[in-house]
Amino acid sequence: MKRFWIISLSTCLTVAAASVAQADALLTDVTIVDVETGSLSPGQSVLIEGTGIAAIGTDLSAAEDIPRIDGTGGYLIPGLWDSHVHIFSSPTEPDTALSLYLINGITGVRDMGALWPIADQQALQAQIENREVLGPRLVLSGAWVDASPGSWPGMFLADTPDDARAAVEQIGSEGWAAVKSYSMLDEMTYLALAEAATGAGLPLVGHIPERVSLGTALEAGQDGMEHFGRVPMACSSAEEDMLNTLRGAMAGGADQATVFGIMAARNQIILETWDEMLCKSLLAQMADVGLHVSPTLVVADFYIGNWPSADVPRMQMIPAAVRDAWGQPDFRLEAVTEDVLDVAQDSIALDRRTFAMAHAAGVPILASSDASFANPYLFHGFSLLDELDIYVATGLTPREALYTATVAPPRFFGLRDQDGTVAVGQRADLVLLDANPLDGLETLRRPRAVITGGRVLDRATLDAMESDLIAAGR
Ligand SMILES: [Zn+2]
Repeated sequence: MKRFWIISLSTCLTVAAASVAQADALLTDVTIVDVETGSLSPGQSVLIEGTGIAAIGTDLSAAEDIPRIDGTGGYLIPGLWDSHVHIFSSPTEPDTALSLYLINGITGVRDMGALWPIADQQALQAQIENREVLGPRLVLSGAWVDASPGSWPGMFLADTPDDARAAVEQIGSEGWAAVKSYSMLDEMTYLALAEAATGAGLPLVGHIPERVSLGTALEAGQDGMEHFGRVPMACSSAEEDMLNTLRGAMAGGADQATVFGIMAARNQIILETWDEMLCKSLLAQMADVGLHVSPTLVVADFYIGNWPSADVPRMQMIPAAVRDAWGQPDFRLEAVTEDVLDVAQDSIALDRRTFAMAHAAGVPILASSDASFANPYLFHGFSLLDELDIYVATGLTPREALYTATVAPPRFFGLRDQDGTVAVGQRADLVLLDANPLDGLETLRRPRAVITGGRVLDRATLDAMESDLIAAGR
């Protein structure tokens, strides 16, 4: 992350006073929502200059020729982040994905694994920052490291501690934002990866490998954990037994289908052995070390067959070839047998209960969807809003849910010009809403305007982007 738009407070004040004539847009009469505290500041004007917020006040003036956006009756929040997506799984995926994020008010995404070379990802990232391409801010965290042959093409492979150290060196030199651990790493290699990442000053994020306990990952200093399933599993008194079953099978050379079958059978065991006291103690430990969790709870919809019909707008907005591919048999569903489906609703309910406990315990949450053309029925943009709705359904307030998508991500990523507040000196990534989102998140579904890196997309522009996506999806 190199291109920060940073100015000190004193510089800001000077800029605000002197810049009125150069400002790029003036939002008038909005209510600013502080997602951290829940406080509302009505009657504010916000002056946007370049990529940042230059001034905020109740009586800002600007030259006649500065475009005005009438915010009367509207609520202004920081732009949303989706902290777990894959936008580079096909050569043209960003053409669709970038627009889908923006029309849904998502002005930042963290990519967690890609089929594009890093140089091409960085080129797109730079084009967005330079305003050559319209899109959300990108954090490139997809340097995934797995045991050979690799769960996906193009992964870094590590079967020994030496391999892990070499991978981290390469990841560091290529400019990735983090190291991502993946499922099939063995424990020794994983521990070496964690140590090397720490040594290189890179966060370790990713899957807790399937043969490693969550407690071991906490001790190893894992910074971010992708997906939530390992938490209820570690709240089970049988976690070690379940790990041993898989370790034994893999040591015996089990094939992928067998491994997936063993993992799918865990849900029943977890339902029988989940332990509230054990869970509370684990969650306190997770909160204590600040392990940031990207839950991707919305992924469950794919596994239980909760798929939208082909005529809904979100389906029409993706390319026809992707829709067709999603309709084909998927290797991940082969392990979803009748037995697994029988306990699916109970299992999802337990995941959600554990999630609510994690949030209450102070475990930092990064709202995330796992959206990708490669992940059927997980939609760029829309699925992040679905994920936030799930958080509210588990008992989070709308403000708490919003926090996971606005405040927590940029702070975890260390973005110095963005901390989830609407304030002078902050990057102008903003969403203007028709209603107070603290009263309910429905208003996120149809923003009045989205501002990304200082560029204002008003409702008419957002409508045109939707029409373009539908036309391209035919
Ligand atoms: Zn993913």
